[in-house]
Amino acid sequence: MAKLLLHICCGPCATYVLEELNPQFEIKGFYYNPNIQPSLEYQKRKEALEKLAQKVNLPILWPEYQPEDYFRKVLGRAIKLSEMERKIKKGFVLPPEKRCPLCYELRLEKTAQKAQELGFDYFSTTLLISPYQDLGRIKKLGLELADRFQVEFYFQDFTSGFLRSKILSKEYDLYRQKYCGCLFSRFEAGVRN
Ligand code: SF4
Repeated sequence: MAKLLLHICCGPCATYVLEELNPQFEIKGFYYNPNIQPSLEYQKRKEALEKLAQKVNLPILWPEYQPEDYFRKVLGRAIKLSEMERKIKKGFVLPPEKRCPLCYELRLEKTAQKAQELGFDYFSTTLLISPYQDLGRIKKLGLELADRFQVEFYFQDFTSGFLRSKILSKEYDLYRQKYCGCLFSRFEAGVRN
């Protein structure tokens, strides 16, 4: 069976994607998400994924949490989470069209690199289930990275399973987040604590 390294953005999104991919691939998860902020939120999503992984017997790689990777990518420089929070409160905005493509690139590039390093046949991402993400852009990026790292990118539009992922998350009693991940999206969603 072909081996696939699956970038996992969160447990709820992984539920349905795993249901779809498990019959076709030997899967290992990769939880690389420096975009998830603040660290308490990162921890909650990590715990939800750990819970799911135990239930479905999924091995996962957990790279160290380094939110400065995200800021270096989208702002071009490292900045502390607390400082960024203060700037956002004062009105600093980085619009989605500027930050999201770079955020996809950051996470998928690392996944492709890791897949190459560990000898996987494919890499993919649970972002492909979200109706809020730009699947066309993710597909294009995935194919470019496949070329660069010589590991196949597996593309499937999983968005028809978004509702089922909500049902499965309830069944597994998983924490479901209220915003995409970064401090900007948290502010836009009106989450204040
Ligand atoms: S809104 Fe989501 S995809 Fe866009 S930059 Fe923030 S965390 Fe990344």
